[in-house]
Amino acid sequence: MRVAVVGAGLTGLAAASRLADGHDVVVLERNPTIGGRLGTTTIGDATFDAGAQFFTVRGDDLHRQTDRWLADGVVREWCRGFGDGDGDGYPRYVGTRGMSDLAHDLASGLDVRTDHMVFTLDRLERGWSVVLDDASRIEVDAVVLTTPAPQAWNLLAQSDVEFPDEIARRPFRRIVAALVTLDAPSAVPGPGGVQLDPADPDAVIGFVADNQQKGISAVPAVTLHAAWAWSEAHWDEPDDAVATALLDAASEWIDGDRVLDVAIRPWRFAAPAEPWPDRCWVDEEHRVVVAGDLFAGPKVEGAFDSGLAAAAAVRAFDPD
Ligand SMILES: Cc1cc2nc3c(=O)[nH]c(=O)nc-3n(C[C@H](O)[C@H](O)[C@H](O)COP(=O)(O)OP(=O)(O)OC[C@H]3O[C@@H](n4cnc5c(N)ncnc54)[C@H](O)[C@@H]3O)c2cc1C
Repeated sequence: MRVAVVGAGLTGLAAASRLADGHDVVVLERNPTIGGRLGTTTIGDATFDAGAQFFTVRGDDLHRQTDRWLADGVVREWCRGFGDGDGDGYPRYVGTRGMSDLAHDLASGLDVRTDHMVFTLDRLERGWSVVLDDASRIEVDAVVLTTPAPQAWNLLAQSDVEFPDEIARRPFRRIVAALVTLDAPSAVPGPGGVQLDPADPDAVIGFVADNQQKGISAVPAVTLHAAWAWSEAHWDEPDDAVATALLDAASEWIDGDRVLDVAIRPWRFAAPAEPWPDRCWVDEEHRVVVAGDLFAGPKVEGAFDSGLAAAAAVRAFDPD
């Protein structure tokens, strides 16, 4: 089958890398870069993980993949927790040059087209016509959608596929990130992360990461993730007001006199607040699958598992 995968985040790339063995797969990504919420970003000489900071491994599938990544130098262990002592003993893995390394590894050898925003999906008698924002079309037998569920609902809205409202309407949390470049090392304690409680309604900061200590930035570079309620409350404020408030709250780790630059990166669909119990949603008759971390948990592992589940669902479609 010819299969279109919409979205080159971890879910889409995990699905595509499995499907490429035996199927003709094209991955369509609206952004100029791949990785989605893995989001490694460079500003001058500074490198930031702007989205996911690390990943943990619980299930067998990501375990096998992580063993391969470790052997190939794609990922390495960052630490076993934050704060005093040895943390909880669970390894926290990071991409060797940033979290987007995971995406680049999975994408290798695939037909991934960046700057290709999918605008809508038209049903054909058999299969789909994927309409891009430049009005060009790609005809395929099956589609895997890995955009956040409300966007998947929107893409399917013109078709006769009934993607359930109760999935499409699941709420997503917002997270505001500040990417701070410094001219001197930060005061973030080793191993370079401070994990606070992002669900605390009174908290300003949820996570602090020193990308230089983490080993991905050549120069001092700190990522601040605002707490959930704070992000929601300050979402519409101008960047400079948000930057000032976050730097103020982070004064324990960042000396304001050493700040060279602050870039604000808002994540509108940062994390599903109420994950859906299945690993993906499948419409066998119309050969469409919706997948993502909404389905298997709001983490790297959830996205990976949902991508594999989507690939298995497509393999089970009747190609005739
Ligand atoms: C601030 C933040 C911190 C996080 N921290 C952690 C962490 O420490 N550990 C952890 O395990 N997880 C963390 N996560 C969660 C983790 O990043 C996600 O679970 C995972 O990356 C989701 O992958 P995905 O492929 O499902 O979605 P995404 O990465 O969002 O991928 C979807 C892709 O679809 C593309 N797209 C959307 N619409 C279209 C369209 N119309 N046409 C074409 N392409 C389209 C998007 O551009 C995007 O690239 C964090 C997330 C955020 C935002």
